[in-house]
Amino acid sequence: MTLIPAPSGLPLKLTVVVAAFNEAQALPLLHPRIQAALALVDGLQGRVLYVDDGSSDDTWSVLQALAAADSRVSLLRLSRNFGKEVALTAGLDQVSEGAALILDADGQDPPELLPQFVQLWQQGFDNVHGTRIAREGEGWLKRVTAALFYRVIGRLSRTPIPADTGDFRLLSPRALAALRQLRERQRFMKGLFGWVGFRHVALPYRREPRMAGGSKFGFWKLWNFALDGVTGFSTAPLRVATYLGLATAGLAFAFAIWVVGKALLFGDRVAGWPTMMAVILLLGGVQLIALGLIGEYLGRLYEEAKQRPLYLVESWLPAGVAQGAEDEPA
Ligand code: UDP
Ligand code: MG
Repeated sequence: MTLIPAPSGLPLKLTVVVAAFNEAQALPLLHPRIQAALALVDGLQGRVLYVDDGSSDDTWSVLQALAAADSRVSLLRLSRNFGKEVALTAGLDQVSEGAALILDADGQDPPELLPQFVQLWQQGFDNVHGTRIAREGEGWLKRVTAALFYRVIGRLSRTPIPADTGDFRLLSPRALAALRQLRERQRFMKGLFGWVGFRHVALPYRREPRMAGGSKFGFWKLWNFALDGVTGFSTAPLRVATYLGLATAGLAFAFAIWVVGKALLFGDRVAGWPTMMAVILLLGGVQLIALGLIGEYLGRLYEEAKQRPLYLVESWLPAGVAQGAEDEPA
Protein backbone atom coordinates (compact mmCIF):
# COMPACT_ATOMS: atom_id res chain seq x y z
CA MET A 1 0.00 0.00 0.00
CA THR A 2 1.37 3.40 -0.92
CA LEU A 3 0.58 6.50 1.05
CA ILE A 4 0.95 10.17 0.33
CA PRO A 5 4.17 11.33 2.05
CA ALA A 6 3.80 13.54 5.11
CA PRO A 7 3.17 17.21 4.16
CA SER A 8 6.52 18.34 5.52
CA GLY A 9 8.32 15.71 3.47
CA LEU A 10 9.55 14.09 6.66
CA PRO A 11 9.15 10.33 7.03
CA LEU A 12 6.07 9.11 8.88
CA LYS A 13 6.92 7.89 12.35
CA LEU A 14 4.75 5.46 14.26
CA THR A 15 5.29 3.54 17.48
CA VAL A 16 3.16 0.50 18.19
CA VAL A 17 2.62 0.43 21.97
CA VAL A 18 1.74 -2.90 23.57
CA ALA A 19 1.06 -3.39 27.29
CA ALA A 20 1.70 -6.96 28.33
CA PHE A 21 1.02 -8.71 31.61
CA ASN A 22 1.89 -12.41 31.64
CA GLU A 23 1.68 -12.74 27.86
CA ALA A 24 4.71 -15.00 27.26
CA GLN A 25 2.67 -17.29 25.05
CA ALA A 26 0.94 -14.64 22.97
CA LEU A 27 3.84 -12.24 22.30
CA PRO A 28 5.89 -14.51 20.00
CA LEU A 29 2.74 -14.94 17.89
CA LEU A 30 1.91 -11.24 17.89
CA HIS A 31 5.30 -9.77 16.98
CA PRO A 32 5.54 -11.25 13.44
CA ARG A 33 2.04 -9.90 12.77
CA ILE A 34 3.14 -6.40 13.84
CA GLN A 35 6.29 -6.67 11.70
CA ALA A 36 4.25 -7.67 8.67
CA ALA A 37 1.77 -4.84 9.28
CA LEU A 38 4.55 -2.23 9.55
CA ALA A 39 5.94 -3.44 6.23
CA LEU A 40 2.59 -2.76 4.57
CA VAL A 41 3.05 1.01 4.67
CA ASP A 42 5.61 2.57 2.35
CA GLY A 43 8.00 5.05 3.89
CA LEU A 44 6.87 4.36 7.43
CA GLN A 45 9.46 4.53 10.18
CA GLY A 46 7.89 2.01 12.50
CA ARG A 47 8.89 1.11 16.01
CA VAL A 48 7.41 -1.25 18.57
CA LEU A 49 7.37 -0.55 22.29
CA TYR A 50 6.47 -3.35 24.65
CA VAL A 51 5.62 -2.51 28.24
CA ASP A 52 6.02 -5.40 30.63
CA ASP A 53 3.54 -4.59 33.37
CA GLY A 54 5.35 -6.50 36.12
CA SER A 55 4.71 -9.95 34.65
CA SER A 56 5.44 -12.97 36.80
CA ASP A 57 5.91 -15.41 33.89
CA ASP A 58 8.57 -15.42 31.13
CA THR A 59 7.22 -12.31 29.41
CA TRP A 60 10.38 -10.27 30.06
CA SER A 61 12.78 -12.86 28.66
CA VAL A 62 10.48 -13.41 25.66
CA LEU A 63 10.52 -9.65 25.07
CA GLN A 64 14.30 -9.47 25.39
CA ALA A 65 14.61 -12.17 22.75
CA LEU A 66 12.27 -10.20 20.45
CA ALA A 67 14.31 -7.02 21.00
CA ALA A 68 17.58 -8.83 20.33
CA ALA A 69 16.24 -10.00 16.97
CA ASP A 70 14.58 -6.75 15.89
CA SER A 71 16.36 -3.41 16.31
CA ARG A 72 13.07 -1.51 16.11
CA VAL A 73 11.85 -2.92 19.41
CA SER A 74 12.04 -0.91 22.65
CA LEU A 75 11.28 -2.46 26.01
CA LEU A 76 10.00 -0.94 29.20
CA ARG A 77 9.54 -2.92 32.37
CA LEU A 78 7.60 -1.51 35.30
CA SER A 79 8.69 -2.22 38.86
CA ARG A 80 5.51 -4.22 39.53
CA ASN A 81 2.06 -4.82 38.07
CA PHE A 82 0.38 -1.41 37.85
CA GLY A 83 -2.58 -2.42 35.70
CA LYS A 84 -3.25 -1.88 32.02
CA GLU A 85 -4.22 1.79 32.20
CA VAL A 86 -0.94 2.76 33.89
CA ALA A 87 1.13 0.43 31.71
CA LEU A 88 -0.29 2.15 28.62
CA THR A 89 0.42 5.55 30.13
CA ALA A 90 4.03 4.52 30.76
CA GLY A 91 4.35 3.35 27.16
CA LEU A 92 2.79 6.48 25.67
CA ASP A 93 5.05 8.65 27.85
CA GLN A 94 8.03 7.18 26.03
CA VAL A 95 6.76 7.97 22.52
CA SER A 96 8.64 11.18 21.85
CA GLU A 97 8.07 11.50 18.10
CA GLY A 98 5.42 10.52 15.63
CA ALA A 99 2.10 8.85 16.33
CA ALA A 100 1.32 5.88 18.56
CA LEU A 101 -0.85 2.87 17.83
CA ILE A 102 -2.09 0.99 20.89
CA LEU A 103 -2.58 -2.77 20.61
CA ASP A 104 -3.46 -5.52 23.07
CA ALA A 105 -0.75 -8.14 23.49
CA ASP A 106 -3.12 -11.05 22.93
CA GLY A 107 -3.85 -10.35 19.27
CA GLN A 108 -7.49 -9.40 19.91
CA ASP A 109 -6.84 -6.09 18.18
CA PRO A 110 -5.67 -7.15 14.71
CA PRO A 111 -2.35 -5.41 13.80
CA GLU A 112 -3.25 -6.00 10.14
CA LEU A 113 -5.45 -2.88 10.32
CA LEU A 114 -2.39 -0.68 10.86
CA PRO A 115 -2.37 0.72 7.28
CA GLN A 116 -5.99 1.84 7.67
CA PHE A 117 -5.19 3.59 10.93
CA VAL A 118 -2.23 5.35 9.33
CA GLN A 119 -4.32 6.36 6.34
CA LEU A 120 -6.95 8.02 8.52
CA TRP A 121 -4.22 9.76 10.51
CA GLN A 122 -2.80 11.07 7.23
CA GLN A 123 -6.24 12.36 6.34
CA GLY A 124 -5.98 14.61 9.38
CA PHE A 125 -7.53 12.63 12.22
CA ASP A 126 -5.86 12.77 15.63
CA ASN A 127 -7.68 9.96 17.35
CA VAL A 128 -8.52 6.98 15.15
CA HIS A 129 -10.32 4.53 17.41
CA GLY A 130 -11.17 0.93 16.64
CA THR A 131 -14.85 0.29 17.31
CA ARG A 132 -15.88 -3.33 17.74
CA ILE A 133 -18.61 -4.54 15.44
CA ALA A 134 -18.16 -8.05 16.79
CA ARG A 135 -16.42 -9.62 19.76
CA GLU A 136 -15.31 -13.13 19.05
CA GLY A 137 -14.20 -15.69 21.59
CA GLU A 138 -15.83 -13.83 24.49
CA GLY A 139 -18.71 -15.16 26.56
CA TRP A 140 -22.23 -13.67 26.35
CA LEU A 141 -22.01 -12.35 29.91
CA LYS A 142 -18.91 -10.31 29.09
CA ARG A 143 -20.46 -9.03 25.86
CA VAL A 144 -23.72 -8.03 27.55
CA THR A 145 -22.09 -6.35 30.56
CA ALA A 146 -19.58 -4.55 28.33
CA ALA A 147 -22.36 -3.27 26.05
CA LEU A 148 -24.35 -2.12 29.09
CA PHE A 149 -21.31 -0.41 30.60
CA TYR A 150 -20.57 1.57 27.45
CA ARG A 151 -24.20 2.73 27.30
CA VAL A 152 -24.28 3.79 30.96
CA ILE A 153 -20.98 5.64 30.87
CA GLY A 154 -21.93 7.22 27.55
CA ARG A 155 -25.03 8.66 29.22
CA LEU A 156 -23.41 9.71 32.49
CA SER A 157 -20.19 11.19 31.22
CA ARG A 158 -20.01 14.72 29.89
CA THR A 159 -16.81 13.69 28.09
CA PRO A 160 -17.66 11.85 24.87
CA ILE A 161 -16.79 8.17 25.29
CA PRO A 162 -17.68 6.26 22.12
CA ALA A 163 -19.51 2.95 22.66
CA ASP A 164 -17.82 -0.42 22.04
CA THR A 165 -14.47 1.28 21.74
CA GLY A 166 -11.46 0.09 23.70
CA ASP A 167 -7.85 1.17 23.77
CA PHE A 168 -7.15 -0.02 20.20
CA ARG A 169 -6.44 3.32 18.54
CA LEU A 170 -3.95 5.60 16.84
CA LEU A 171 -3.07 8.91 18.48
CA SER A 172 -1.47 11.74 16.53
CA PRO A 173 1.53 13.58 18.01
CA ARG A 174 -0.60 16.45 19.27
CA ALA A 175 -3.16 14.12 20.84
CA LEU A 176 -0.27 12.31 22.56
CA ALA A 177 1.19 15.57 23.81
CA ALA A 178 -2.20 16.55 25.20
CA LEU A 179 -2.69 13.17 26.86
CA ARG A 180 0.69 13.44 28.55
CA GLN A 181 -0.58 16.44 30.47
CA LEU A 182 -3.29 14.40 32.17
CA ARG A 183 -1.54 12.93 35.20
CA GLU A 184 -4.52 11.86 37.29
CA ARG A 185 -3.95 8.71 39.35
CA GLN A 186 -7.30 7.22 38.67
CA ARG A 187 -6.85 6.52 35.01
CA PHE A 188 -9.71 5.51 32.81
CA MET A 189 -7.93 5.74 29.48
CA LYS A 190 -11.02 5.52 27.27
CA GLY A 191 -12.32 8.62 29.02
CA LEU A 192 -8.99 10.43 28.88
CA PHE A 193 -8.71 9.80 25.13
CA GLY A 194 -12.15 11.35 24.73
CA TRP A 195 -11.37 14.28 27.03
CA VAL A 196 -8.42 15.30 24.86
CA GLY A 197 -10.74 15.96 21.95
CA PHE A 198 -9.33 16.93 18.52
CA ARG A 199 -10.54 15.21 15.38
CA HIS A 200 -11.60 11.66 15.95
CA VAL A 201 -12.99 8.94 13.77
CA ALA A 202 -14.12 5.37 14.30
CA LEU A 203 -12.61 2.46 12.45
CA PRO A 204 -14.99 -0.52 12.71
CA TYR A 205 -13.33 -3.89 13.22
CA ARG A 206 -14.04 -7.41 14.37
CA ARG A 207 -12.44 -8.25 17.70
CA GLU A 208 -10.67 -11.57 17.39
CA PRO A 209 -10.41 -14.28 20.03
CA ARG A 210 -7.30 -14.29 22.23
CA MET A 211 -4.34 -16.07 20.54
CA ALA A 212 -3.00 -17.69 23.71
CA GLY A 213 -3.27 -17.48 27.49
CA GLY A 214 -6.28 -16.25 29.45
CA SER A 215 -7.97 -12.91 30.10
CA LYS A 216 -6.44 -10.79 32.86
CA PHE A 217 -9.75 -9.16 33.65
CA GLY A 218 -12.09 -11.16 35.86
CA PHE A 219 -15.53 -9.85 36.71
CA TRP A 220 -14.48 -8.26 39.99
CA LYS A 221 -11.66 -6.40 38.23
CA LEU A 222 -14.05 -5.29 35.49
CA TRP A 223 -16.58 -4.08 38.08
CA ASN A 224 -13.91 -1.99 39.80
CA PHE A 225 -12.78 -0.73 36.42
CA ALA A 226 -16.36 0.32 35.67
CA LEU A 227 -16.55 2.16 39.02
CA ASP A 228 -13.32 3.97 38.17
CA GLY A 229 -14.77 4.95 34.82
CA VAL A 230 -18.02 6.27 36.26
CA THR A 231 -16.49 8.11 39.22
CA GLY A 232 -13.68 9.47 37.07
CA PHE A 233 -15.97 10.97 34.46
CA SER A 234 -19.24 11.73 36.17
CA THR A 235 -20.55 13.11 39.43
CA ALA A 236 -24.08 12.01 38.54
CA PRO A 237 -24.12 9.32 41.29
CA LEU A 238 -23.61 12.03 43.92
CA ARG A 239 -26.53 13.93 42.50
CA VAL A 240 -28.65 10.79 42.52
CA ALA A 241 -27.92 10.56 46.25
CA THR A 242 -29.14 14.13 46.70
CA TYR A 243 -32.37 13.51 44.80
CA LEU A 244 -32.94 10.25 46.61
CA GLY A 245 -32.56 12.15 49.89
CA LEU A 246 -34.95 14.87 48.75
CA ALA A 247 -37.54 12.34 47.59
CA THR A 248 -37.30 10.38 50.85
CA ALA A 249 -37.57 13.55 52.93
CA GLY A 250 -40.66 14.61 50.94
CA LEU A 251 -42.32 11.23 51.43
CA ALA A 252 -41.40 11.20 55.12
CA PHE A 253 -42.99 14.62 55.56
CA ALA A 254 -46.25 13.50 53.95
CA PHE A 255 -46.21 10.33 56.01
CA ALA A 256 -45.64 12.32 59.23
CA ILE A 257 -48.68 14.51 58.51
CA TRP A 258 -50.76 11.42 57.95
CA VAL A 259 -49.52 9.69 61.15
CA VAL A 260 -50.03 12.78 63.33
CA GLY A 261 -53.44 13.47 61.77
CA LYS A 262 -54.52 9.90 62.39
CA ALA A 263 -53.37 10.02 66.01
CA LEU A 264 -55.23 13.30 66.60
CA LEU A 265 -58.45 12.03 65.06
CA PHE A 266 -58.55 8.47 66.31
CA GLY A 267 -56.11 8.47 69.25
CA ASP A 268 -52.82 6.62 69.44
CA ARG A 269 -52.91 2.98 70.47
CA VAL A 270 -49.14 2.45 69.94
CA ALA A 271 -49.66 0.46 66.80
CA GLY A 272 -47.55 0.68 63.67
CA TRP A 273 -44.44 -1.14 64.78
CA PRO A 274 -43.99 -2.87 61.37
CA THR A 275 -44.31 0.46 59.56
CA MET A 276 -41.72 2.02 61.84
CA MET A 277 -39.26 -0.81 61.31
CA ALA A 278 -39.77 -0.62 57.55
CA VAL A 279 -39.12 3.11 57.51
CA ILE A 280 -36.04 2.87 59.78
CA LEU A 281 -34.51 0.10 57.69
CA LEU A 282 -35.26 1.84 54.42
CA LEU A 283 -33.78 5.13 55.61
CA GLY A 284 -30.77 3.37 57.10
CA GLY A 285 -30.14 1.64 53.79
CA VAL A 286 -30.52 4.81 51.77
CA GLN A 287 -28.14 6.65 54.10
CA LEU A 288 -25.53 3.92 53.85
CA ILE A 289 -25.74 3.91 50.06
CA ALA A 290 -25.29 7.68 49.99
CA LEU A 291 -22.35 7.44 52.40
CA GLY A 292 -20.80 4.70 50.28
CA LEU A 293 -21.14 6.86 47.17
CA ILE A 294 -19.47 9.80 48.88
CA GLY A 295 -16.78 7.40 50.10
CA GLU A 296 -16.08 6.25 46.53
CA TYR A 297 -15.31 9.81 45.50
CA LEU A 298 -13.50 10.67 48.72
CA GLY A 299 -11.26 7.60 48.43
CA ARG A 300 -10.28 8.62 44.94
CA LEU A 301 -9.63 12.16 46.10
CA TYR A 302 -7.33 10.68 48.74
CA GLU A 303 -5.42 8.70 46.09
CA GLU A 304 -5.06 11.87 44.06
CA ALA A 305 -3.95 13.97 47.02
CA LYS A 306 -1.04 11.66 47.78
CA GLN A 307 0.62 12.70 44.53
CA ARG A 308 2.57 9.50 44.13
CA PRO A 309 4.22 8.91 40.76
CA LEU A 310 1.96 6.98 38.39
CA TYR A 311 4.47 4.17 37.94
CA LEU A 312 8.09 3.24 38.50
CA VAL A 313 10.36 1.90 35.80
CA GLU A 314 12.60 -1.07 36.44
CA SER A 315 14.28 -1.23 32.99
CA TRP A 316 14.18 0.84 29.86
CA LEU A 317 15.78 -0.56 26.73
CA PRO A 318 15.33 1.87 23.83
CA ALA A 319 15.22 0.48 20.30
CA GLY A 320 18.56 -0.73 19.03
CA VAL A 321 20.12 -1.08 22.46
CA ALA A 322 21.56 -4.54 22.94
CA GLN A 323 20.07 -6.79 25.53
CA GLY A 324 21.38 -6.12 29.03
CA ALA A 325 22.34 -2.45 28.60
CA GLU A 326 19.94 -0.55 30.81
CA ASP A 327 19.64 3.12 31.47
CA GLU A 328 17.25 5.52 33.08
CA PRO A 329 14.07 6.36 31.22
CA ALA A 330 14.06 9.60 29.27
N1 UDP B 1 -2.75 -6.05 30.78
C1 UDP B 1 -1.76 -5.30 31.40
N2 UDP B 1 -1.76 -5.21 32.77
C2 UDP B 1 -2.72 -5.82 33.54
C3 UDP B 1 -3.74 -6.55 32.88
C4 UDP B 1 -3.73 -6.62 31.50
O1 UDP B 1 -0.88 -4.74 30.74
O2 UDP B 1 -2.67 -5.70 34.76
C5 UDP B 1 -2.75 -6.15 29.30
C6 UDP B 1 -2.80 -7.57 28.77
O3 UDP B 1 -1.53 -8.16 28.72
C7 UDP B 1 -3.40 -7.36 27.40
C8 UDP B 1 -4.35 -6.18 27.62
O4 UDP B 1 -3.92 -5.55 28.82
O5 UDP B 1 -2.43 -6.95 26.46
C9 UDP B 1 -5.80 -6.62 27.70
O6 UDP B 1 -5.93 -7.61 28.69
P1 UDP B 1 -6.86 -8.88 28.49
O7 UDP B 1 -6.69 -9.43 27.11
O8 UDP B 1 -6.60 -9.84 29.61
O9 UDP B 1 -8.30 -8.25 28.65
P2 UDP B 1 -9.62 -8.66 27.85
O10 UDP B 1 -9.28 -8.58 26.39
O11 UDP B 1 -9.94 -10.04 28.26
O12 UDP B 1 -10.62 -7.65 28.27
MG1 MG C 1 -7.77 -9.56 25.51
